[in-house]
Amino acid sequence: MRTFGGFRSGDKFFYGEVRGNDVHVLARPYWIDIEPTGEVQRLADVDVDLPVAPSKLIAVGLNYSDHIAEMKRTPLGTPLIWFKAPSSLLPHGDAIEITWPEHRTDFEVELAIVIGVPAKNVTVKDALDHVFGYTIGLDISDRDLQKAEKQFGRCKSFDTYSPVGPFVYSDVDVSDLSIELWQNGELRQQARTSQMIYSVAQIVSFVSQSMTLLRGDVILTGTPSGVGPIHAGDQLEAIIGNWPPLRNSVVNAPPRDLDWRSCWNFGGANLIDFPYIPATEIFRIRDATFEERSVP
Ligand code: MG
Repeated sequence: MRTFGGFRSGDKFFYGEVRGNDVHVLARPYWIDIEPTGEVQRLADVDVDLPVAPSKLIAVGLNYSDHIAEMKRTPLGTPLIWFKAPSSLLPHGDAIEITWPEHRTDFEVELAIVIGVPAKNVTVKDALDHVFGYTIGLDISDRDLQKAEKQFGRCKSFDTYSPVGPFVYSDVDVSDLSIELWQNGELRQQARTSQMIYSVAQIVSFVSQSMTLLRGDVILTGTPSGVGPIHAGDQLEAIIGNWPPLRNSVVNAPPRDLDWRSCWNFGGANLIDFPYIPATEIFRIRDATFEERSVP
């Protein structure tokens, strides 16, 4: 097993490989190229920062039977995938900021995949050749928005809602590792990765048939049962196998001088007040525009 990460020393950010108590500084992100600069820092002397910088942060849902049961959902027969905003990533040690403290906001511990070789239409058999390594992730989820909107993108993409780390591990078998979430010292989620309905190889193959996976892309592979709400003051600890735990605290985001409808603001009118336009009218406008453009 090899260990990689993102680190900060003063104002300087760098990727490095952890060997014992040392961090060997790399010239480039480890998922692009493992090229040591020769500089070595002591792990104790640097801050752990984000170990990934993906072009796409993809999440898988409903991948453990007991979680499907607790969410009262039905298995789809294929993996269920959606995007989380990469801007929601949060390093080990930093605080999750609950955007809407009045909403139920849940923790979900998940195994995360880091892509090492671009993948497009790869078979299940070849899929693991495209994986660089793995890390621990949390898929923080605003359940009120998720239930109201029946969409997964917005409710899981607020800043800080995707903690990952502390490190990324390569040359490791993740097919049957323990996966746990501790909240304030109490065990809340406990399962094994072997209980995943779709394996890492099946997920990578499936996603690669929907979009090209690039080096450094990250896929969260779904959470087991036991999900529950977080509150300001909580201490979360996510553990997979014998890897160092991912630890994050929880605070409420500072109050914002914004109305929730403001994200739908069209020059002063919000969507609530916006006149309803029948679909037929939208098609008429679209077709008229098309005809205008088609005139020779
Ligand atoms: Mg999830």
